[in-house]
Amino acid sequence: MNWSEANKLALDLFPVSTRSEARAKGHKKYFTGKICKHGHISQRYVSNGICCNCLLTRLRNNVLIRVDKQHAQQVKDYVKEVIEMK
Ligand SMILES: [Zn+2]
Repeated sequence: MNWSEANKLALDLFPVSTRSEARAKGHKKYFTGKICKHGHISQRYVSNGICCNCLLTRLRNNVLIRVDKQHAQQVKDYVKEVIEMK
């Protein structure tokens, strides 16, 4: 599965909500259905609003050097989800 197929799948899988709605429901992630500035249609983290795909890409490129423990766990969970989607 490539990213564009994953993007289409994301539209089917995730209900669209706003960050404040997701926070009110206690969700860790939300999905706007909109494309991020780097072209991903992906869930975003409620805690920081960052696109999950962007974060994964940044980690893969070793650009994001400092990650707190909670954030690192979210990233690990997301990587696991992506791996399981294949
Ligand atoms: Zn992105």
